Amino acid sequence: MKKAYKTEVLLTAAQQQKANQTIGVCRYVYNLYLETAQKQYKETKKHLSGFDFSKWLNNVHTKQNDQWMKDVSSKAVKQAIMSGDRAFKNFFKGIAKFPRFKKRKNEDVKAYFPKNNATDLTVERHRIKIPTFGWVRLKEFGYIPTDATIINCTLSKKADRYFISVLCDVEKSEKAYESESEGIGVDLGMKEFAVCSNQLIFENVNKQERIIKLEKRLKRQQRKLSRSIEQNKNRQRGEFCAKNRQKQLLVVQQLHARLANMRKEYIRFVASVLVKTKPAFIAIEDLNVTGMMKNRHLSRAIASQNFKQFREFLIAKCLEIGIEIRLVDRWFPSSKCCSSCGEKNVGLSLADRIFTCGNCGLEMDRDFNASLNLKYTKAYTVVTE
Ligand SMILES: [Zn+2]
Repeated sequence: MKKAYKTEVLLTAAQQQKANQTIGVCRYVYNLYLETAQKQYKETKKHLSGFDFSKWLNNVHTKQNDQWMKDVSSKAVKQAIMSGDRAFKNFFKGIAKFPRFKKRKNEDVKAYFPKNNATDLTVERHRIKIPTFGWVRLKEFGYIPTDATIINCTLSKKADRYFISVLCDVEKSEKAYESESEGIGVDLGMKEFAVCSNQLIFENVNKQERIIKLEKRLKRQQRKLSRSIEQNKNRQRGEFCAKNRQKQLLVVQQLHARLANMRKEYIRFVASVLVKTKPAFIAIEDLNVTGMMKNRHLSRAIASQNFKQFREFLIAKCLEIGIEIRLVDRWFPSSKCCSSCGEKNVGLSLADRIFTCGNCGLEMDRDFNASLNLKYTKAYTVVTE
């Protein structure tokens, strides 16, 4: 079983410079590949493979003047090209959008390091050895297992902090799992993040005051940033010092990162509480998040709830321990059926918070009713096997 560990690293000044350079070269090469491949496709109608581009880059391009590109890990550069190659192939297959150029401010380029030598990526309690970097200090001691077989690692930067993600091959421990309670149905929603059939209710994290306050601050700082960009719009390049703008950009990036971390932490908390009740199974809806996002009045609110991430995380956690996850069919009318007699209440609108059954007279919170339906339905697929 493969497992990834992501944690922050503490780089020295020289290592920081090296990390910035490696990530920068990867981004440059990725963009150069996209540009060259596009050009070739227009001329010859043939896809430029990553291997051919890599050969051309090594033999023709870098010989001329780009020595700075050779100062960083060649494996990382190669990986950047191959991920561009994959982006094109996914586009041709129709499963992804047309690849776009990577921008520096998006901070979405990672440097990739495979394990080549036996001493590469050795992990100790407080440090890890990365090719071309040497020993790098970890911020969290003992998080990455020292005895695991490491396959590769990626280094990334977010809001002026550096992170390492280590992919390990861990043996799946055959823990005997004994459920202590019956299965639970989990209804995900906008008002409450999750309502469970065992009376647990998890509030929407975006309605907590700490998040609302932070969002307000982010809005203010974003305004400040855009004002400074607006003011400096008409100046020539190099005419002014952009230092303050860089500082402001960092403030905005840090707020974004903090919000994202808080939300991610919350879904992990929910998943771990659910798992700790030791249910026989967990039934969740197969939400059509992409479809829901098309509603532009709701898309922001839905995106900030991280439903997709929650499901992925819950499945991963349950796979590890051995809890069955039941993915209930997308079209199953979980909120419109009566959980005690099965009668369908077609007239129920989103505004009705209380579900009332015309047949048996049941009155109950609509989300709780939905979670009971999810628990007892037979229209599901098991995703953890
Ligand atoms: Zn009923």
